[in-house]
Amino acid sequence: MNSIDKIELIGMNIGELEDFASRLGQPRFRGRQLHRWIYVKDTSSFYEMSDLPRQVRQQFDDRARISIPRVLKQRVASDGTRKFLMEMNDKKRVETVLIPQSRDLNGRYTLCVSSQVGCPLRCAFCATGQGVFQRNLAAHEIVGQFLGSRRELKRRLKNPEEPLITNVVYMGMGEPLLNLTEVIHSIRILNDPRGIQLGQRHITISTCGEATGILRLAEEDLQITLAISLHAADDQLRDELVPINKKYPLAALMTAVKKYVEKTGRRVTFEYIMLDGVNISRKDAENLAKLVKPLLANINLIPYNEVDGLLYRKPEAQDVQAFCNWLKAAGLNVSVREEHGGDIEAACGQLAVKQS
Ligand code: SAH
Repeated sequence: MNSIDKIELIGMNIGELEDFASRLGQPRFRGRQLHRWIYVKDTSSFYEMSDLPRQVRQQFDDRARISIPRVLKQRVASDGTRKFLMEMNDKKRVETVLIPQSRDLNGRYTLCVSSQVGCPLRCAFCATGQGVFQRNLAAHEIVGQFLGSRRELKRRLKNPEEPLITNVVYMGMGEPLLNLTEVIHSIRILNDPRGIQLGQRHITISTCGEATGILRLAEEDLQITLAISLHAADDQLRDELVPINKKYPLAALMTAVKKYVEKTGRRVTFEYIMLDGVNISRKDAENLAKLVKPLLANINLIPYNEVDGLLYRKPEAQDVQAFCNWLKAAGLNVSVREEHGGDIEAACGQLAVKQS
């Protein structure tokens, strides 16, 4: 059988894997074995599945595949952040970033996954938006980034049985809400209590303000965190920085976010990139406070990370602090995002891949 015609098993839940086994004339518990090999053991080869009889491994391999993306390259930053270049079956490539929550190699990690190959939205300050949009990722390719990263990490650890990756953020390449069906499917798989077991509250989706997607997401009844890349609190500036604002201006975006908060009861996060001399004046802080105050929300400030070929500048530390203080004085819940992996171009907004 041509490998293209094989059935992809990543993305299937236990019931679907049981059905798969049973369609091949195998007992249903073989599906549960597959489930464990895929989602607990990060195995992509049927021949490593030691509790399956040899001819069953062969039979599964003839009909199916487990496409954990190939890690073509990995770079490690001075702070321990790892950036993986991952290749999909059709040779398309994305980047995935593994961020340690502490200095301890055996500690916990947050994984930043990509949801698209490239991005169609072209935000002015973002490296991904400078390249060409190629396609959406399938749910199995998103979950595959998790399995592939965890497998790489386990190879380096003494005690690989501990929970390693405890948080997943959809903040890599692409706009997740333009690929919502696959993104939601991937969340259900990450969240499966018999598989990867990632709590929904440990999952964050970041959107540049795809208002229709926000409303659709609200209907899903998920306990994940929604982050909105706001970056400007007036329409004129936001049109420039985040072009999707022309389609969904601030009024439309904020109405959608308000509905989301009402429907889910979840506190949202507004991300705000800080560009020196562009969006961090006192007036900008006042506009931002006015816009966000009525909502149940946190603000996460992201000092700009350098992108080759772009002219924006990171603000001085004292300007970051001043902006932060104005917002706090206005009664907002504010934090400043720590930069990770800046020395290997793995920080927010620095992900870009040339396709071969
Ligand atoms: N498309 C989604 C997911 C990307 S998340 C979104 O826009 O939210 C990546 C986060 O990093 C977003 O908040 C994005 O606006 C921000 N970002 C992009 N380029 C950046 C840069 N050069 N420096 C700092 N943050 C950046």
